[in-house]
Amino acid sequence: MTFLPKTAEYVERSERRSAHNYHPLPVVVERAEGAWVTDVDGRRLLDCLAGYSSLNFGHGNPAILAAAREQLDRLTLTSRAFLHDRFADFCAALGDLTGKDMVLPMNTGAEAVESAIKVARKWGYEVKGVPADMATILVAENNFHGRTTTIVGFSTDPDARGGFGPFAPGFRVVKYGSADAIRDAIDDTTVAVLIEPIQGEAGVLVPPDGYLTQVREICSQRGVLMMADEIQSGLGRTGDTFACDHEGVVPDVYILGKALGGGVVPVSAIAADAGVLGVLKPGQHGSTFGGNPLACAVGIAVVDLLSTGEFQRRARELGAVLHERLRGLAGQGVTAVRGRGLWAGVDIDPALATGRQISEALLARGVLVKDTHGSTIRIGPPLVISEEDLHWAVDRLAEALSDLR
Ligand SMILES: *Cc1c(COP(=O)(O)O)cnc(C)c1O
Repeated sequence: MTFLPKTAEYVERSERRSAHNYHPLPVVVERAEGAWVTDVDGRRLLDCLAGYSSLNFGHGNPAILAAAREQLDRLTLTSRAFLHDRFADFCAALGDLTGKDMVLPMNTGAEAVESAIKVARKWGYEVKGVPADMATILVAENNFHGRTTTIVGFSTDPDARGGFGPFAPGFRVVKYGSADAIRDAIDDTTVAVLIEPIQGEAGVLVPPDGYLTQVREICSQRGVLMMADEIQSGLGRTGDTFACDHEGVVPDVYILGKALGGGVVPVSAIAADAGVLGVLKPGQHGSTFGGNPLACAVGIAVVDLLSTGEFQRRARELGAVLHERLRGLAGQGVTAVRGRGLWAGVDIDPALATGRQISEALLARGVLVKDTHGSTIRIGPPLVISEEDLHWAVDRLAEALSDLR
């Protein structure tokens, strides 16, 4: 890649003093609005990653910024030692959106997943009657639930877990997309099944139709909590509020993050009924920043935006356009297209290019995407993207592919 002058200098400076746990594309973003960003060399680029769904409502969404600004001027932090005047409203808003009794606010996605794991275990001992320290949780192959030591301990990605052991016991990995695998793996110690309704990091893998319904049925029959990690799939991305809605499935525990922070602050949460989340008593779990006033103000604005259904509709309609256009690239360097709503995993013929090379070719043409697992690129622009811009992005992909062929 040829680097523009300012970009080259910023990349060099970043690499010198930061840990190298990422390999970012050589672009240095300076400002953004809606679906478009501007870099330090003045290039305008169409953001087709949207912070892995953190920016569902677009960069600088006016309603979210207004809520954040109002809150910034008034009150930003109390810690959970005291209540504040946005806390109850946030919990009620998210409780209504999920249809659940209770909400536990945290900050990052991984913390929400950790919270769900803790709640499931405690529920298992106190409600289900699993013998102390025997609880097991079923997870799926190719899962991505975050980066803490407990979570990477049940990852099946060698890069994610290699060198970070010893790992916490109590997890069993089953094949993703197979309800039979879950049925067979459940035993008396199983307290929960933790799955992504669509596996994002794995390459936007959509399970077979009926999978979520069957998992729901099995969990209900066997007295096991169904915990849906909707951190990336939820809050409008797939054309519904939650990816589980596609099958009309309601999990026992929703795990949310990313877009819940409106692209402004990290906001995550789990939502569940009182019979589940009620197992936590004072002192048993917490977070200094979880449910802070700024996070709650932003979270309320996000839930508000979702209440009209406009963003879900946009994801559905623009998603249909995106998937039709991408399917049209089959045989032209594209070997498979997966996804739902405004979210696609596109497999590139490895003989043609790696996902990284396609991402770099798209960057040179003004489109930001991210590769995953070698030969896949992910496309998930902010839901505010215009149809015209979406076509423009796919045209750039077609161009990049045809230049390589
Ligand atoms: C991003 C993500 C996480 C982790 O969220 P962080 O905020 O990065 O900790 C967990 N699960 C899924 C499905 C995700 O996409």
